[in-house]
Amino acid sequence: MVAALEIRNLHASVEGTPILKGVNLTIKQGETHALMGPNGSGKSTLANVLMGNPAYTVDSGQVIFDGVDLLELEPDARSRLGLFMAFQYPVAIPGVTLANFLRSAINARRRDVDPADKGISIPEFRRLLMDKMNYLEISPDFASRYLNDGFSGGEKKRAEILQMAVLQPKIAILDETDSGLDIDALRIVAGGVNRLVGPDLGVLVITHYKRILDYIRPQYIHIMMDGRIVESGGPELADQLEAEGYKPIFEKYGIVPTEE
Ligand code: ADP
Ligand code: MG
Repeated sequence: MVAALEIRNLHASVEGTPILKGVNLTIKQGETHALMGPNGSGKSTLANVLMGNPAYTVDSGQVIFDGVDLLELEPDARSRLGLFMAFQYPVAIPGVTLANFLRSAINARRRDVDPADKGISIPEFRRLLMDKMNYLEISPDFASRYLNDGFSGGEKKRAEILQMAVLQPKIAILDETDSGLDIDALRIVAGGVNRLVGPDLGVLVITHYKRILDYIRPQYIHIMMDGRIVESGGPELADQLEAEGYKPIFEKYGIVPTEE
């Protein structure tokens, strides 16, 4: 069965201020969506709420993932169910290599299915990791570096995509907004996404910039403004944004832009 992430009339606030004001969005395995919108419209808030960041309060609405009430689950349980979230500012874990981190994540997932599971064997893990790294054209010595410790922007993105490849989520959410991604990092993310998308993976790419859409062609594009998705469409919506910017959409909805 195809898994879906269904966001239904979601309202959420930060420190008492309402940010999300009724978000509706469904992403299914096999689909690629882009969520666009000006700075401050609530895109990262949506990502944080989906991941279960405790700084964000859900006021009303529902999120169903693969038939389960996502909002009732702890972040790690969300991840084990097959939801993957890549962050704009991933934390560094000095002392833990990328390989060890990935192996722990795989084992946590296996133990979730079978508490008696002994974990993936080292040779099997090595094979899996090398396989994915080859496929993504990542140099093998990358796996022995400490997670995100001193990583460049591009390397963080590479680590993120590798995690996604190894964990094989059903739905991945990539928040690339405001991160000042250089064109190199952008290519890494887009190249990784393009290689990994397929019938078993659904992707939501969150971006302020239209240029990532030169590298990823999503089937669905959504525009968020003031905590709501105000427009949804196909690739033509990105072309329209490219040509006209957000201004006509601001005007259509009577929203005064703070910044674009
Ligand atoms: P976007 O990702 O679309 O740029 P955000 O979701 O980051 O928008 O921000 C939406 C609004 O919520 C902004 O006004 C921002 O200041 C506020 N906000 C987001 N996260 C926090 C936070 N952790 N603490 C306080 N305010 C926040
Ligand atoms: Mg953001």
